[in-house]
Amino acid sequence: MTLKEREVEELTEAALREIAEAGTDADLERLRVHYLGRKGAITQILRSLGRMAPEQRREVGRQANAAKEQVEAALARRLEALKEARARRAAPALDVTLPGRTAFLGRLHPLTRITREICDILVHLGFEIAEGPEVELDFYNFEALNIPADHPARDMQDTFYFNDQVLLRTHTSPMQIRVMERRRPPVRIIAPGKVYRRDSDMTHSPMFHQVEGLLVDRGVTFADLKGVLTAFVHQLFDPDVGLRFRPSYFPFTEPSAEIDIACVICRGQGCRVCSATGWLEVLGAGMVHPAVFEAVGYDPEEFTGFAFGLGVERFAMLKYGIDDIRLFYDNDLRFLRQF
Ligand SMILES: [Zn+2]
Repeated sequence: MTLKEREVEELTEAALREIAEAGTDADLERLRVHYLGRKGAITQILRSLGRMAPEQRREVGRQANAAKEQVEAALARRLEALKEARARRAAPALDVTLPGRTAFLGRLHPLTRITREICDILVHLGFEIAEGPEVELDFYNFEALNIPADHPARDMQDTFYFNDQVLLRTHTSPMQIRVMERRRPPVRIIAPGKVYRRDSDMTHSPMFHQVEGLLVDRGVTFADLKGVLTAFVHQLFDPDVGLRFRPSYFPFTEPSAEIDIACVICRGQGCRVCSATGWLEVLGAGMVHPAVFEAVGYDPEEFTGFAFGLGVERFAMLKYGIDDIRLFYDNDLRFLRQF
């Protein structure tokens, strides 16, 4: 290798090393001028070829032209690399190893689920669903249900009043009147919905849900009431759940009964939910009082019927083993996602 050839080789190595270390576009431009500019080192070698002997000219020419191409390519690569580095620094940090965000599926609220289940069973037993206002008239909530103004039964319920005549319904029973006013028997309806009372503790909420049932026709007896409610409770819980009918009193039914279910929280042993009795009252029921029929223009001599009302929250607590009614209204997703 001649001295000239060695010079070109060293020049090329130096150029490639400096280009690889260049940190800015300006550095690269300076290097380009230094090696490939009009007075650049490689340019001058190419220009000096004419003064060389033919043998040397061919060899050094080939080498210098190759060096020129190498340096041009290295400059272009480094320029592109610097541009990419700038783009990476400008973009927001993206950590592809982070776990993805889980999308949670929506769930039906436990009260919605149990309401649908209750209604499904009763609809299959032949009842149809009727709905009505939560802001109710005194007439439908009390008067027509055989609860006149001076009736002691009004003390049984703490009522939210708007004024003397308008209130938040305290039970779904007004729907009995609203439906019977509009039609003649046979009547077979259930009325699910919100009701309101001034009451709040572990098993009572000022707003809660009931499902009302009413069946009126010729020849309906208390045996029909027992049969329907027993079939209903057995289907909703299981055929072995304990069930008892106790004599009770409601102004709008006669005779009246309360229906208890064996406490499924403690299995009858006694706990705070069942007040240590082992039983939970879940249904109120009875044969429709003749005075109620008279209020809607039905002849009590011609028609008989039964009515029942149940607390949806109570059913949900029993069915899902929940011991505090307030969990239903806290909107705590950790609770709601369990259903
Ligand atoms: Zn219990």
